[in-house]
Amino acid sequence: MPEQSENKIEKVVIVGSGPAGWTAAIYAARASLEPLVFAGRPKQVPSLVLPGGQLMMTTEVENYPGFPEGVTGPKMMAKFEQQAVRFGTRIQTDNGQNPDVSDPDDGHSFAYHDCTKVDLSQSPFTVWGENDVCVKAHTVIIATGATANWLGLENEQKLARSGGGVSACAVCDGALPVFRDKELAVVGGGDSAVEEASYLAKFASKVYMIHRRDELRASKIMQQRAMDNPKIEILWNKQVVDVLGDQMISGVRLSDTQSNEESELALGGLFMAIGHTPATAFLDGQLELDEKRYIKLADPYRSTTSVDGVFAAGDCVDSVYRQAITAAGMGCKSALDAEAWLANHGVE
Ligand SMILES: Cc1cc2nc3c(=O)[nH]c(=O)nc-3n(C[C@H](O)[C@H](O)[C@H](O)COP(=O)(O)OP(=O)(O)OC[C@H]3O[C@@H](n4cnc5c(N)ncnc54)[C@H](O)[C@@H]3O)c2cc1C
Repeated sequence: MPEQSENKIEKVVIVGSGPAGWTAAIYAARASLEPLVFAGRPKQVPSLVLPGGQLMMTTEVENYPGFPEGVTGPKMMAKFEQQAVRFGTRIQTDNGQNPDVSDPDDGHSFAYHDCTKVDLSQSPFTVWGENDVCVKAHTVIIATGATANWLGLENEQKLARSGGGVSACAVCDGALPVFRDKELAVVGGGDSAVEEASYLAKFASKVYMIHRRDELRASKIMQQRAMDNPKIEILWNKQVVDVLGDQMISGVRLSDTQSNEESELALGGLFMAIGHTPATAFLDGQLELDEKRYIKLADPYRSTTSVDGVFAAGDCVDSVYRQAITAAGMGCKSALDAEAWLANHGVE
């Protein structure tokens, strides 16, 4: 368990253990700031969130530089953690044990511990964890991500985690060989659903957009883009009530939202585009958020927030790019910003 005493004030506390959190930890640790990480705990909010972040829900990551053969999401995150710990990152655990830093190939297990609340009203800040853990910190980096929304169907979650052709990120997974020349479907009717469908149409033989209503929520220009694409067909007034297939998706069962009539659609892949939920509720309004509840940056080129000394990085501030590489880049910026803050305030 990381050393804690009544009077100790941490230089940097990092909340979150996805690409943003671990990259912040690597930079802060290499600057001898001995960061303390709250890695999170598996929870359903409403979709599953795991320590290690969104990449724990994916099998192949093919677009992160440095892994020419690709890498599984969990293995990549175990490597991020290992690298952070190697330079002196401390991880808050709830069992008093040191975290497992064994090689990802040897069955690495992640440390679990949630940050339950924060007091950012005065410096040093207070960060609470489970079992009355209470930590004081000069700077805090929030890297809690934004969870992709899923339908919440049992087989959807199973196939998503096993690489069975169900995903919540077309840009991340659409180019994988498993989806090439297949009939795919995107669930959703907003701008991002049209974007995902248009992207998938580059690789797929056909893309269905499954939408609950009889008109898209997407902007006029995006609607036109979907209508003009000969590979995209919109299935109106339909919702997915079951995902079919054992090892690999074979299709979905649809229900008509007007007649309740059920039908089956054969598919080689299914993509959710029904929004994201930023993990910012635990901040309890202490940082300024935008209308979608993403953390607002004080300066778009930095990681500064509405509270001096509190920084934010990754998908919890980014409703646009939402990629591991962009999250990691922001994690780097947040650690450099925290380091500069500490130097400017004379904290050794
Ligand atoms: C199915 C899927 C496939 C994807 N594939 C790719 C891909 O191939 N390539 C790519 O670049 N991107 C991919 N992405 C996107 C990528 O996963 C995200 O952009 C990236 O993980 C964001 O990193 P992050 O660190 O900001 O947040 P996350 O990875 O979401 O991590 C957030 C972290 O915060 C923790 N946390 C949350 N609340 C608390 C709390 N209260 N206390 C403590 N910890 C907390 C969580 O446990 C988690 O560790 C994919 C996303 C999905 C959904």
